[in-house]
Amino acid sequence: MEPNPLLRQLPQIDALLRRPELAGLSPAAAAPLARKTVEEARQRILSGEVKDAPSAEDLCAAILQKARGTRLREVLNGTGVVLHTNLGRACLSEAAARAVVTAARRYSDLEYDLASGARGARDCRAEALLRTLTGAERALVVNNNAAAVLLALTAVAGGGEAVISRGELVEIGGSFRIPELAEQCGCKLREVGTTNKTRLRDYRKALGPETRAVLKVHTSNYRVVGFTESVSLPQLAELAHSRRLPVIQDLGSGCLTDLWGEPTVQACLRSGADIVTFSGDKLLGGPQAGLLAGSARWIEPLRRHPLARALRVDKLTLAALEATLETYLDPRRAQAELPVPRMLSETPETLRRRGEALLSLLGEDFPAALVETEEPAGGGSLPERRFAGLALAVTPAEITPEELARRLRTGERPVLGRVRGERYLLHLRTLWDEDLPCLASALREALP
Ligand SMILES: *Cc1c(COP(=O)(O)O)cnc(C)c1O
Repeated sequence: MEPNPLLRQLPQIDALLRRPELAGLSPAAAAPLARKTVEEARQRILSGEVKDAPSAEDLCAAILQKARGTRLREVLNGTGVVLHTNLGRACLSEAAARAVVTAARRYSDLEYDLASGARGARDCRAEALLRTLTGAERALVVNNNAAAVLLALTAVAGGGEAVISRGELVEIGGSFRIPELAEQCGCKLREVGTTNKTRLRDYRKALGPETRAVLKVHTSNYRVVGFTESVSLPQLAELAHSRRLPVIQDLGSGCLTDLWGEPTVQACLRSGADIVTFSGDKLLGGPQAGLLAGSARWIEPLRRHPLARALRVDKLTLAALEATLETYLDPRRAQAELPVPRMLSETPETLRRRGEALLSLLGEDFPAALVETEEPAGGGSLPERRFAGLALAVTPAEITPEELARRLRTGERPVLGRVRGERYLLHLRTLWDEDLPCLASALREALP
């Protein structure tokens, strides 16, 4: 068979590598990328996908792009899901973002006590804030809540048993399942009760010489409803404390304000939990982190445990967390400045004003209208709550809504919305006012 003549127009690898465009790349780095790029061009020619061979300039541009890799891209979130795990969960406040930049660019007193001129603890500022905000005797910060549970269970119940209700054997996405995590901690889970009903006497019967802790897991991403019964934290704490055992409460979504009817960290501590663990980037609205708050008796040993060093957070996280926690000292400030609480309690008037601003940027002939919607909080939080929301519904005439979604997703500034039947929806709750002009141009460009 006659070889495709276009193939002969592809440059030699050596010739490509000598081009000035690639002068900034080491030959060792450039050669494999050049081979890969030319091979991809060959395949496109052979498959008939292209009618011209790419120029050497195009090939060099493709090689450079491969060398730079693809970075984390900013996405306009039109899904209405505030805590979208695939989109990075919580967005930080301006103050938290500024703190990150400062900590990143210069030296800081990360582990240095300026007053005494001696070494200090890296999470002492976050700990002080957590103590003030939750009333806990001690607090500790690790990489995420999974790490917090890992540390607590390993240190407290490793080599022994932790008693847990069968109604609380939670999975938070495939990579975090309480039973598998406990196994990793060397801790045997002693399951009590049934999926829907667990009573105090079930716990009492299970306590034995091997018991090291009672574990309570907040069902933050599901609810057991109907014919149910569970044991309240105060009752459980009373039972555990009568045997000198601690109650570890994995609170998951971790609220400091009772805006959404979720148990707050401070309420759990008042109810007798000895260690409460929760996420920094769920309802709290801070960076990814795992926070532990509790009594000195049970938190102090965790701080000294070898795992604590392996799970510790870096200075950028601490900077963001300190700034986030600081906002909670004034609840009104937290509500106004932290994107998560602000978005979750956005008023219908604000959403409508945002929607109308977007509509007017799009112009009269754009095929869109505002529709009322219902939105989940996301991030394994508030499973039963639906927030009344508002979305821009686009009804494209000449392309399918799926094609519109694809164009917006793969554009210069990616936009994510949702396809619902014949319409493409952009929920206004998770969009920023300042991004509306950019969003409007992306929408206008995407429609033929
Ligand atoms: C989310 C969640 C976790 C895991 O927290 P990460 O911060 O994502 O590691 C653990 N337990 C519960 C109950 C949760 O809701």
